[in-house]
Amino acid sequence: MERRTRQKESVYRALVALGHPSATELYEYVHAQDAEISRSTVFRVLSDFASAGRARRLCFTGSDDRFDATLAPHAHLHCRKCGRIFDIPMPDMRSDGGRAERFLIEQCYVEFRGVCAACQGADGADEGF
Ligand SMILES: [Zn+2]
Ligand SMILES: [Zn+2]
Repeated sequence: MERRTRQKESVYRALVALGHPSATELYEYVHAQDAEISRSTVFRVLSDFASAGRARRLCFTGSDDRFDATLAPHAHLHCRKCGRIFDIPMPDMRSDGGRAERFLIEQCYVEFRGVCAACQGADGADEGF
């Protein structure tokens, strides 16, 4: 397989394995397996995936852009303690969600902030926001 194609595929596999990595997290993961891959290659491949519709670029409150290989409509649960991100299903509202405003919906980002199950158990009494 051609080197560029091989690198693209390893970036994609890492994206699926990591869930919702930032570009830096993904670079560190891929670089650990393939020391030849450069940071700029990883960043460029991720941007290509986003513009080609092979991955979604996510903008979460207070964090770097993250990437998501899951293209089906879904929302995110974002733990404010550990930063983990979980997918939850969401109906696809693109077809009729904007009808009342005659708005053509192209993208949708839904982020719920809170505390994940593991973090709720971690410290008993929650210190709150
Ligand atoms: Zn958590
Ligand atoms: Zn997701």
